[in-house]
Amino acid sequence: MTSGGHGTDGVERRGLMFVLSSPSGAGKTTLSRMLIDRMPGLKMSVSATTRSMRPGEVNGKDYTFVDKATFDAMVKADELLEWATVFDNSYGTPRGPVEAALSAGQDVLFDIDWQGTQQLKQKARADVVSVFILPPSASDLEKRLHSRAQDSDEVIRKRMSRASDEMSHWAEYDYIVINHNVDDAFAEVQSILKAERLKRERQTGLVSFVRGLQGQLQG
Ligand code: 5GP
Repeated sequence: MTSGGHGTDGVERRGLMFVLSSPSGAGKTTLSRMLIDRMPGLKMSVSATTRSMRPGEVNGKDYTFVDKATFDAMVKADELLEWATVFDNSYGTPRGPVEAALSAGQDVLFDIDWQGTQQLKQKARADVVSVFILPPSASDLEKRLHSRAQDSDEVIRKRMSRASDEMSHWAEYDYIVINHNVDDAFAEVQSILKAERLKRERQTGLVSFVRGLQGQLQG
């Protein structure tokens, strides 16, 4: 998956797919929001899901909430770039907005699980940068799940027992960030994105940029 567009320095570049994964409660949602607020040129991919809306969530912003029949129809029509079943619900990434953003030279941020990350990598390895967020301890994870106060005790117990399974996929990611505190973790994730944006092969306009520079020097 490639794209044209211009980076902040005016050199044409291809957009990248920036994936954040973690067990629930490791701080990934907070980090995603901070990235979207503070990094120009980065757009959030809003997933479709069959799970019910939590208090405070906004349809079309946090997720597009759909019923199972709608989700299945999206899969059948090949409208999802990737999809997976997590906690007995279906989640998937609508293809259209991602392709539109990438072809406008924007980067896209994904908050998806390891199954979705694997699918994106199969489709566009060179364009995917993946980061796994780890909690500093199990008790920290539990505390965050409780303080979120969005899920019932039973759901929290389920999420804790799944956390270990989810974490077993850490070695499939390009970068690992341990979220001791949110400001440091944010600074680390931001540095990863900034460095990845500067990779030579993503700056597709460098050849003509350097030629222009050389022309000016010789001119
Ligand atoms: P939650 O229900 O807590 O919002 O999300 C549960 C899990 O589903 C999280 O690990 C989240 O990253 C993952 N998830 C959310 N959207 C998608 C998606 O579109 N695709 C995949 N594969 N996972 C997703």
